[in-house]
Amino acid sequence: MTDFASIESFAAAEARLVAVRRQLHANPELSHQEEKTAAFVAGQLESWGYEVTRNVGGHGVVGRLKVGEGNRSIALRADMDALPITESTGLAYASTVAGVMHACGHDGHTAILLGAAEYLAQSRNFSGTLNLIFQPAEESAGRSGAVAMMDDGLFERFPCDAIFGLHNHPGAPAGMILSRPGPLMAASDSATLTVHGKGAHAARPHLGIDPIVVASAIVMALQTIVSRSVDSTEVAVVTVGTFHGGTATNIIADHATMTLSLRSFQPAIRETLKTRLKAIAEAQAAAWGARVDLAFDEGYPAVVNDAEETAFAMQIARELVGSSLVAESPLIPGSEDFAHYLTRKPGCFLRLGNGESSAALHNPGYDFNDASLTTGAALWARLAERYLHS
Ligand SMILES: [Zn+2]
Ligand SMILES: [Zn+2]
Repeated sequence: MTDFASIESFAAAEARLVAVRRQLHANPELSHQEEKTAAFVAGQLESWGYEVTRNVGGHGVVGRLKVGEGNRSIALRADMDALPITESTGLAYASTVAGVMHACGHDGHTAILLGAAEYLAQSRNFSGTLNLIFQPAEESAGRSGAVAMMDDGLFERFPCDAIFGLHNHPGAPAGMILSRPGPLMAASDSATLTVHGKGAHAARPHLGIDPIVVASAIVMALQTIVSRSVDSTEVAVVTVGTFHGGTATNIIADHATMTLSLRSFQPAIRETLKTRLKAIAEAQAAAWGARVDLAFDEGYPAVVNDAEETAFAMQIARELVGSSLVAESPLIPGSEDFAHYLTRKPGCFLRLGNGESSAALHNPGYDFNDASLTTGAALWARLAERYLHS
């Protein structure tokens, strides 16, 4: 048995990894449209001897490689989709598709997993089953690619004992690896709340039920959800993002509508936000003789890392880059559909530094940092080798 993969193991492959990453960057595809990216990925995997399954939950691709007699199995996941943003980087390899851009670094995530795939197929330094998941439509909250792949039998057709994924992290040094056990990224839900009052003349408000007054009372009462109903050592957000009502100065409106964003890191708190919102809205409306319609739009759940698999992944990270480049991640209020996998399988989601001066994710000036490619590929390769070590 040869040594486990290290960053140096990828020195010779680095130029090719950069070329692949930039090719993907120049040819971005929106969520649910990742046809060419998927075809490229599938072709690469096949050329290295993987058993490849296409069109899993849309444009999803799964590459499977079984080596030896080991009965453990692992899944590693990369996302492939881009965003409806017009790139402003001016880079030589900038997007060639008008209005579409890899502004979240999924080009880097895909290149990293391909790099690990090639290495692992050549070194074959493991015993067990490797499942490489190339997922479409991460940026599609209403139609998550992770959910589509699971609905298409991902874990039944390609069983795994644990699943791992990573996302680049602007603000952390290139090559730094961050994670934390338990909640890492937020659940994100939204709600639409309409208060139905009774229209009247502005001069005779006692003849109507003013939905703007009722809705205002609701907005103020909602401020007690986090401050009074959520454990003070936990984090949650209730934001009223829009508030609309009325048409003219001299009219008491018939209804008023607001939309809300709810963020949380614990399933129980996610539920609390919803139940308190409903109770407060209904009770406030009832007090004024009004009524409410409330519709929730479920987003991604929180990314909740398994303690054991996270300890394992962080140990691999320390072996690769040393303790000074491994850090406990802060809670991240963004959301990520890898969360869905973690509701079914133990695993860990990691963050990979994208440089301290990196533009923010989803910014038109953003670019994935190529200096992190070999670290990412080595992380996946070593993690798979160690997980499937007989
Ligand atoms: Zn994104
Ligand atoms: Zn992303």
